[in-house]
Amino acid sequence: MRYLNMYDSISCLNCLACMSACSMENRMRLERDAGVSLERGVNEYNPGSFYLRPWRREVGKYPDSRLLVAFEHCRHCENAQCLINCPAGAIERRPMGQVVINESACIGCRTCRDVCPFDIPIYDNQTGKARKCIGCYDRVESGMQPACVTACPSKALISGPEDMVLAEGEDRIATYAKRLGRDYVIYGKDKINRVVGRLGWVSIAAREDAEHYDLFANPAKVTMIARDGLKMGGAVGAACVVAGAALHGLYLFAKRKDQVKAAEHDTKENADE
Ligand code: SF4
Ligand code: SF4
Ligand code: SF4
Repeated sequence: MRYLNMYDSISCLNCLACMSACSMENRMRLERDAGVSLERGVNEYNPGSFYLRPWRREVGKYPDSRLLVAFEHCRHCENAQCLINCPAGAIERRPMGQVVINESACIGCRTCRDVCPFDIPIYDNQTGKARKCIGCYDRVESGMQPACVTACPSKALISGPEDMVLAEGEDRIATYAKRLGRDYVIYGKDKINRVVGRLGWVSIAAREDAEHYDLFANPAKVTMIARDGLKMGGAVGAACVVAGAALHGLYLFAKRKDQVKAAEHDTKENADE
C-alpha cells in the first residue's frame, strides 16, 4: 500500500502545532535511539529537529498583495534523487513509501542536499550527518499517523492510503473552486517530471499560486543537471574507451593476420628454394 501525506495550504491556520509536534517526536526518537534523557522541559520543542520549515511570503503589490503561508518539507519523491545519489547507500525507502536517511550509515558528504530538487536535507554540523523528515515511518508502520498530522487542529494535514487521501483532496479542491472561485491543484498526485516522479507528500494550492509555493512545474537542481552531464560525459568517455579498445583489437587482429601471411609467404619461399 502506498501511503500519502497531504498539506492543504487553504485550510492551514499557520498555528505551527505541526512543527512543534514534529520537534517533540524527533526529540523522543533521539532519546530512544541514543538511550539518553535530554535535559529539556517536556513541552519545550527541540530546536533544529523539526522537519517542517515554515515560511510566509507576500505576493503581488500592496494593496492587492496576498500573504501566503506554507512549509518546506520532504516530499518523499517517487524518484528520490537523494536515495539514488547517496554514495553511502544510507537512504532507504520504507515499504509504505517513506524515504529515510539512516544516520548511522550517513558519511556527511551532503550529496542528498545537493541533488534534492526541493532543497530539503539539512546538514547537522554537530553530528556531521544529514537529516530530514522520515515521514514518521515508525508511527505509520505501527498503525498510527505522523505526529504532525495528529497535531493539526484544522485537518490541513491528512495522511493515509493513497486512494483515500487523493479522494479527499479532489473533494476539497472542488469545494474550494465552488466557494472561492479559483482553480486549485493537488501538486504531486501525477508524475511531475522525470527527476521527481510522483510525490509521497502532495500539496493543495491555488493553481496561479503554485510557483509562489515553490510547487514548480519542472523542479530540478543545477547541480543535478551538472551531475547528469558528468554521467553522460562519463558514458561518452566509456563508449570512447570501448570503441578505442575495439579499434585497437581490430588493428592487432589485422596486424597479426599480416604477420601470419608474411610468415606463410617466407615459409613457402624457403620451401621453394
Ligand atoms: S498544525 Fe495544521 S493548521 Fe497548524 S500550521 Fe500546521 S498544517 Fe497549518
Ligand atoms: S524531497 Fe528531496 S529529500 Fe525528500 S525524497 Fe525528494 S529528493 Fe529526497
Ligand atoms: S512526518 Fe514526522 S518527521 Fe515528517 S514532518 Fe511530520 S512529524 Fe516531522
